[in-house]
Amino acid sequence: MHNETLRPESTPAGFADFKPTIVSTTQQHADGTLVDKYGRRITYVRLSITDRCDFRCTYCMAEEMTFVPHHEVMSLEECLRVVTVFAGLGVTKLRITGGEPLVRKNAMWLIERLGALPGIDNLVLTSNGSQLDRFARPLHAAGVKRINISLDTLQAERFKKITRIGDLRKVMRGIEATRAAGFTRTKLNTVMMRGTNDDEFSDLVQFAVDNELDISFIEEMPLGDIHGRNTSYISSEETRDVLAKRFELLPSTENSGGPARYWRIPGSESRIGFISPHSHNFCDTCNRVRITAKGELYPCLGQNDAINLLQVLHAHSSDDALRQAIMDSMGIKPYGHDFTKQMDEPQVVRFMSMTGG
Ligand code: SAM
Ligand code: SF4
Repeated sequence: MHNETLRPESTPAGFADFKPTIVSTTQQHADGTLVDKYGRRITYVRLSITDRCDFRCTYCMAEEMTFVPHHEVMSLEECLRVVTVFAGLGVTKLRITGGEPLVRKNAMWLIERLGALPGIDNLVLTSNGSQLDRFARPLHAAGVKRINISLDTLQAERFKKITRIGDLRKVMRGIEATRAAGFTRTKLNTVMMRGTNDDEFSDLVQFAVDNELDISFIEEMPLGDIHGRNTSYISSEETRDVLAKRFELLPSTENSGGPARYWRIPGSESRIGFISPHSHNFCDTCNRVRITAKGELYPCLGQNDAINLLQVLHAHSSDDALRQAIMDSMGIKPYGHDFTKQMDEPQVVRFMSMTGG
């Protein structure tokens, strides 16, 4: 039986010496949901359906990337099987991500089935926007509820520099197509980088307000061996101070269940979020696990422990072993990550495009 005791209200940022309390000895709550040893219910899965991408963002990938060979990538049928088992274990929210999920061949085959999967009532997608002019309508028809689109700059030249190969006009067309397809509360994701886009944060917020979008600013994380992160890191707090010079920011109590904390601008529906893996750690309320395109289940973005679900899938035709492997992963979900060390020393060698953002 799952037994709950009080956990700390919030995790201190940088908790190398922090000793969390183990409060659960089972992997399932009485209501059937997955529960880890710290008593956190796991109801949200992020599934990367490819590590490939049509961009090469400097903070996300090396210039020369080696991608997972096609034969090692989970088939779409296997992705569906894995998610079906998660749904049976009480997972209700699923984010399709990558790499760029929309460059995966036949991605819509999977997304249509996930949209109709009993139990998954919140199907969402993260995209770089480059393919959305083609895919926004079918995604909406398939039941995708919300789309997050990465946008770090509004300047074409700068966009090309950050993404190495991307075309800002395509992304802008994608944002417009998303609106035309009927999506509401589309969210922009902006990675904050000193000396690269830190003079544009207010313009990006104005763009979000003008286009009825939400926007979240993300602190850069030390995932993958990319140099120069120490000098580019900007905290959420610093950005909030900059935005406060142009906008009246009212703290909002809204919580999407994730790590973002939100502010509002009076007279606008747009939410301004801050995802602060360095300066504020919200691991104590973590409700998610991640699955890579190779079928590895990572219980934590910022740690290296994983369970290979694809091996289990290949070894067993029934879903019982898969269900057990997922439940076992609750035992290796760590209390949290600690990004407080030097940013230039990657604590996790996987790039974000591998694990899925
Ligand atoms: N290709 C899609 C996109 O760009 O939105 C989905 C995958 S991408 C890995 C998901 C998110 O991770 C993006 O918003 C991206 O900006 C963010 N990201 C990638 N590398 C990051 C890093 N090192 N630190 C913080 N955010 C990162
Ligand atoms: Fe591709 Fe997204 Fe990574 Fe940029 S952030 S390289 S768009 S996966």
